[in-house]
Amino acid sequence: MTGQNYQAILERIHRDITPWRTAGRVADYIPELATVRADHFGMAIVTVDGQVYRTGDADVRFSIQSISKLFACTLAFQLLGDALWKRVGREPSGTAFNSLVQLEFEAGKPRNPFINAGALVVTDVLCRRFVQAETALVNFVRRLSGVPDIDYDLRVAQSELAHAERNRAMAHFMASFGNLEMPADAVIDAYCRQCAISMSCVELARAALFLANGGVSPANGERVLDASSTKRLSALMLTCGTYDAAGDFVYRVGLPAKSGVGGGIVAVLPGEFAVCVWSPGLDATGNSLAGIQALETLTSITERSIF
Ligand code: GLU
Repeated sequence: MTGQNYQAILERIHRDITPWRTAGRVADYIPELATVRADHFGMAIVTVDGQVYRTGDADVRFSIQSISKLFACTLAFQLLGDALWKRVGREPSGTAFNSLVQLEFEAGKPRNPFINAGALVVTDVLCRRFVQAETALVNFVRRLSGVPDIDYDLRVAQSELAHAERNRAMAHFMASFGNLEMPADAVIDAYCRQCAISMSCVELARAALFLANGGVSPANGERVLDASSTKRLSALMLTCGTYDAAGDFVYRVGLPAKSGVGGGIVAVLPGEFAVCVWSPGLDATGNSLAGIQALETLTSITERSIF
């Protein structure tokens, strides 16, 4: 696939996506997210050999929300290796990203690191290791993307902190099972700030590119994970990265991916590229409606996926 084709394909997707851009609903349970216009659309592909293709709002920053769980999990996996899985599972949850029900049956061990409960345990690992977990994460994505001014949006973080009852309940509940090492409120604070990181499609695709490149970040040559851990993290994205719609997402798109309620989805094709799409209107499962459509079109037109 030549570079020329990727650019033409992105432009075709951008044209054809118009009816989908207003079909979804912007997340409003975090009030600051509801202020974003639904009809934004951006998409970027960054290849392992350094080519960047972009269309629409690909350089506009948005709230990465749950996509931060991918980077936080990478850092925690770097720190703990397989010991991480003593505290967090590796199975799809079959329930919503913010559900509490399984935690009681499963003694406070979340199903996977990409639902909120699992991400809170991951953040707990980072809070234990770093004085400010969110700063460590911001520095990590700055390094991975090669963009030094990436940061979290304080207004989004405060909005999220003011409406975090459910996540607080989850954190305290897990603490009651002994699955948090740091104070629950400190973990919630770091978690809300990490979710509020703002990045663009181009920046996110660059940051995730190590997953398409055997664990080495092409931006700075840093080995982020070994090849085997990279495979394992990508496998988790495939089975758990798009909330309770992972089966349908893989059926339609065929790439490991992580989505967020800000409307972003980042996906990788190992050996080739990372792609990020952003459109804030969500479907009923919390995934970007136009974003999934765009990724499905990409893998259909190029006939490239992991399958
Ligand atoms: N900050 C959001 C929450 O905790 C993240 C949700 C998401 O993007 O899935 O509810």
